[in-house]
Amino acid sequence: MAASTQSAVLSGAKVVLPTGIVAGGRVIVDGERIAGSAAPDTPVTDLAGHWIVPGFVDMHNHGGGGASFTSGTAEEVLKGVRTHREHGTTTLVASTVTGELDELARRAGLLAELTQQGEIAGVHFEGPFINACRKGAHKAELLRDPDPAEVRKLVDSAHGAARMVTLATELPGGLDSVRLLAEHGVIAAIGHTDATYDQTRRAIDAGATVATHLYNAMPGLEHRAPGPIAALLEDERITVELINDGTHLHPAMLELAFHHAGAHRVALITDAMDAAGFGDGTYHLGPLEVEVKDGVARLVEGGSIAGSTLTLDTAFRRAVTVDKLPVESVVQAISANPAKLIGLYDQVGSLEPGKYADLVVLDAEFGLKGVMRRGEWIVKPGA
Ligand SMILES: [Zn+2]
Repeated sequence: MAASTQSAVLSGAKVVLPTGIVAGGRVIVDGERIAGSAAPDTPVTDLAGHWIVPGFVDMHNHGGGGASFTSGTAEEVLKGVRTHREHGTTTLVASTVTGELDELARRAGLLAELTQQGEIAGVHFEGPFINACRKGAHKAELLRDPDPAEVRKLVDSAHGAARMVTLATELPGGLDSVRLLAEHGVIAAIGHTDATYDQTRRAIDAGATVATHLYNAMPGLEHRAPGPIAALLEDERITVELINDGTHLHPAMLELAFHHAGAHRVALITDAMDAAGFGDGTYHLGPLEVEVKDGVARLVEGGSIAGSTLTLDTAFRRAVTVDKLPVESVVQAISANPAKLIGLYDQVGSLEPGKYADLVVLDAEFGLKGVMRRGEWIVKPGA
């Protein structure tokens, strides 16, 4: 993509900065970056009555726009990426699902190329190293214990683009795999797990830093068996992913996570599949068939929830209007925290001079009105 050489001043909006909300603030765009000052003749776009927030960063996403990141061509992956961009996600980590190791390695090769081209921000391997009794929409026959040598092979297959591996750390080889990932700068994410409270604590001590869709695909809180949820919520070293689509979580559980962990330890994700931004119908999630009805994706066989049809603009709006969370907290959870986790906070995740001009314009009701990525309008306000 050619870099735009245009400059612009976006003015009059409530701008959400790391230091707080600035009413009547402005964002100066110079080429593909945010600038600290503007030349006198720079054109001004009046966005009074709107919000300007940083572009959203989705670290767990399997597809959208009718296209899957787990199968299909580079062109199809880009179609999914574009769909999510139109909904405000300017940085996206593509997630795979459980498959044969060789097939996953090939997939990682393709996703690594798109990472090098700047289209996506890396790869998240969800499975195959997960617990069969918490498999969700992963194919049972293809699950395996997390052998560090195999984990290593998978990470290497992404040529430096591997950002995260979701694994059930209580399985044989789990803790060694966590240590290996931490040594390689890849996030070890605890998920699709049947771990006890103590087992989860050991995985955190070994270097795990993320809870993959907290609450989903793990044992619940029990009065004598607090399980992974309590261990993950209480530990400052963990960021918890939440799918805020109104289907995966009761609003009270979202509130619990924000209240107990704090906004600085939450990452709002979509866990989206192909139907996101597309519509109901029959799809595939990796090797499994999925039926999407009224926006809810379920496996044809067994009926497990199979990813979401969520886009992050909806997650943002819900968090503010339904869950009544402060806008600054939502911005932290949807942009800054995931950007920090995947090591890109020096480039994206907040509106600061020098970073990419990745931003979202919302109206007073938090409806999406504009999306800019690297200085170019993906969705132009007022168009
Ligand atoms: Zn997922």
